[in-house]
Amino acid sequence: MDYVFINEVVGRSEIAMVALGTHSLQDSIMLHRYANAEWRDKHLAPLVAGEVFPSFGMTEPDVASSDPTQLQTRAVLEGDEWVINGRKWFTSGAGNAV
Ligand SMILES: Cc1cc2nc3c(=O)[nH]c(=O)nc-3n(C[C@H](O)[C@H](O)[C@H](O)COP(=O)(O)OP(=O)(O)OC[C@H]3O[C@@H](n4cnc5c(N)ncnc54)[C@H](O)[C@@H]3O)c2cc1C
Repeated sequence: MDYVFINEVVGRSEIAMVALGTHSLQDSIMLHRYANAEWRDKHLAPLVAGEVFPSFGMTEPDVASSDPTQLQTRAVLEGDEWVINGRKWFTSGAGNAV
């Protein structure tokens, strides 16, 4: 709950998360908790070092996106390419993600 109150204040500014370096927190926690060692080395290390800018595409227009179990978009590996089938919106930082 402590972090909820902090976010209430941080959310008053469009640049606060980037200024405070917390824009990568959500992605960092997910990678820290659920990624394998290879993905942690490849993605988490540069993320917390500030070398890459994250973007997280969860929210979809046709389902309640506060419940990730309802998400419909699927990413399927076909040969060497990921084919993403679905529609996302409200994806902060997508234009700057590296
Ligand atoms: C500043 C900002 C930045 C954002 N950045 C991103 C981003 O980078 N990436 C991204 O993916 N999204 C982003 N979002 C979108 C945000 O994360 C979504 O709005 C959120 O995931 C909620 O999904 P939803 O809008 O579909 O609302 P819903 O899930 O439809 O929820 C609406 C309301 O209905 C309630 N509700 C939902 N399901 C049920 C149920 N079964 N029974 C009863 N009540 C229910 C919820 O508790 C909530 O009060 C951003 C939003 C904001 C405001």
